[in-house]
Amino acid sequence: MELRDKVAIITGASSGIGEAIARKLSAEGVRLVITARREDRLKALSAELPGPCVYLPAAIELPQTPQALLDLALSSYGRVDILVNNAGMFVAGSLDTIDLDALAQMTRVNFDAVVRASYLFARGFKQQKAGAIVNVSSIGAYLSSSSVGVYSGLKHALEIFTSALRVELKGSGVRVGTIAPGTTDTEIFDHMRARGETVRADQTPQLDPADIAAAVHFMLAQPERANVARLLLVSSAESV
Ligand code: NDP
Repeated sequence: MELRDKVAIITGASSGIGEAIARKLSAEGVRLVITARREDRLKALSAELPGPCVYLPAAIELPQTPQALLDLALSSYGRVDILVNNAGMFVAGSLDTIDLDALAQMTRVNFDAVVRASYLFARGFKQQKAGAIVNVSSIGAYLSSSSVGVYSGLKHALEIFTSALRVELKGSGVRVGTIAPGTTDTEIFDHMRARGETVRADQTPQLDPADIAAAVHFMLAQPERANVARLLLVSSAESV
């Protein structure tokens, strides 16, 4: 698909993988709407990008945020073609100490918000008979290991939800898929590092966020007849 002048919404674009996707798509001529909570980061990124970019500082778990993103895309560019649901957080911990409120917040951000945005945009894409949704899952979706059961479970649920949505939209012109990154060098574990906790990811080889961005570009750039349903991208030295 020719990406130049397409309009993409990218969530979680203030750092890490989302920021890298914004940089890559902007370099390919895609017009952007980026969102996250940290306005200073969004403002700085949008000023730096080579192409058009507007931003919405917002918490993705608020029910009104996906509609606000759609409204901003339509008022800025008159259309929307691509949704990348990337915003996410990582909460881990043992049975005795894990923070149950943080787990509930992770459920809202990593799953509930993705479902709401996916359905909202899929309805519009179905009407216009074109569009693409990429949901950022995780290698964790395919593994079960102690202390990350909820994170992995939510990403597994996201894989199944996305598959079901793809089947529901078959033949509609709308493409839906997931990318499951392996361990990637971002800020997602910073809150654990700040507490002096052991971060397993720091003991394994890590991907660069630009690697994931290149893979997302690959997914979106396929001809309209081709849908990358699932892409698992791990470090060549990762033991999975
Ligand atoms: P980062 O912490 O660097 O980025 C997370 C992004 O999500 C930030 O832009 C953050 O912005 C945003 N975000 C978090 N919570 C909210 C919220 N409540 N409302 C709005 N935005 C929010 O991590 P990554 O780049 O690593 O994570 C991106 C995605 O990749 C996540 O879905 C993650 O699960 C997935 N992933 C990451 C892997 C890794 O090893 N890094 C491996 C596999 C998957 P802000 O704080 O400004 O709101």
